[in-house]
Amino acid sequence: MDETAAVQHFVDRLLAKLAKEVRGRIMSIRVCRGKDISEGVLRSVFAARTAGTALEGVGIVVEDFAGSHLCKACGVSHYITGDDLFGKLFICTQCGWSQEIEEAEGLHLLEVVHSVMGHENPRDSEWTAVGDGI
Ligand SMILES: [Zn+2]
Repeated sequence: MDETAAVQHFVDRLLAKLAKEVRGRIMSIRVCRGKDISEGVLRSVFAARTAGTALEGVGIVVEDFAGSHLCKACGVSHYITGDDLFGKLFICTQCGWSQEIEEAEGLHLLEVVHSVMGHENPRDSEWTAVGDGI
C-alpha cells in the first residue's frame, strides 16, 4: 500500500469508528506515525479526506515513531528510532536477536479527545488504549 492510500485507509477507518462510538464533538486526535508515512502527506491527505466530515478542521497531533524497546532475548532496553530499523525489523545491538516492531510502520491511533455531554473537554481514557494500526 502506498503512503497516500495508507493514510486514506486510516482516515476512513477512523471516521467509521468515531461515527459509531463518539457522540460528542471531536476536539483533537493524536497519532503515531511510522517511518513509512511522512508528516506532510499525512496532514494533506487527512485535511482532504476529512472535508465535510466530523473531523473537518480537527487538530491532529503527529508523533514520530520512536521509543524504548526491551529486547525479548537479552532484556536490554534500547531507544529506537526509524533509523535503527530494517523495515519493521530491529536487530538488538547487544545480542543480535531480531524482532519486529509493529508501531514502526503505518499509522496508529493514540488518542481521541472529544466532548461528552455535561463535561468540558474531557480525556476519554478508553481511547488511549485504542491502537488502530493499518
Ligand atoms: Zn538483545
